[in-house]
Amino acid sequence: MTSSTIASILVIEDEPAIRELLKFNLVDAGYDVHEAVDAESAKRSIAARLPDLVLLDWMLPGQSGLALARQLRSDARTRELPIIMVTARAQEADKVAGLEAWVDDYVTKPFSPRELKARIKAVLRRRAPEAGHDTLASGSVALDSVAHRVTVAGSEVSLGPTEFRLLRYLMARPDRVLSRAQLLDGVWGDHVDIEDRTVDVHIRRLRAVLEPFGADARIETVRGSGYRFLSSSPADASKPGQEGRK
Ligand code: CA
Repeated sequence: MTSSTIASILVIEDEPAIRELLKFNLVDAGYDVHEAVDAESAKRSIAARLPDLVLLDWMLPGQSGLALARQLRSDARTRELPIIMVTARAQEADKVAGLEAWVDDYVTKPFSPRELKARIKAVLRRRAPEAGHDTLASGSVALDSVAHRVTVAGSEVSLGPTEFRLLRYLMARPDRVLSRAQLLDGVWGDHVDIEDRTVDVHIRRLRAVLEPFGADARIETVRGSGYRFLSSSPADASKPGQEGRK
């Protein structure tokens, strides 16, 4: 994996020994690991940088892991944030069964690092389509995450790192309208210091690279909402001799 495809995981766990064990295994598996010891420090960490996944201990001092999961789900910025809950075996079965409304998955202590890593991988693949794929292809546009290479109609094009991540994020979510805030979180990973306008600047650069191939129309501006990557190009759909819709 290249550096831009490393997923970041926030481990929220108050017991130092377990936190260390989790960190050791996740760093070993190639993840970028951040730590928090309780809900308050977790919220500060998430406010500064949205992780790709949260590994959340249920039993935390102060606000519980479950209460934090509910809070994250009720906030537009963190609603889609993948959460895996870590529960103790002693926790009541009916409560654990209800967990699925708030989290993507859960593991019961003691867990095997191998099982945990498999679940993290599965959740990331489900939630962030581009994380599970080495290549994305749509019409004339193909993106290879491993080689960090983009081709349009078979010709390699040169993209800056931000345009590359932006295109990958868009292509992994075809036909979905993505707001500037979503793009900032998904592509830049931190929406605190960056203006919405930045998204427009990089969309413009991306379109400029695609334009000579007539593929710039694949990125549609949705007025008042954001941007959308069209799974089929308006030009591709037209018959030869007809003019592609601009
Ligand atoms: Ca705990």
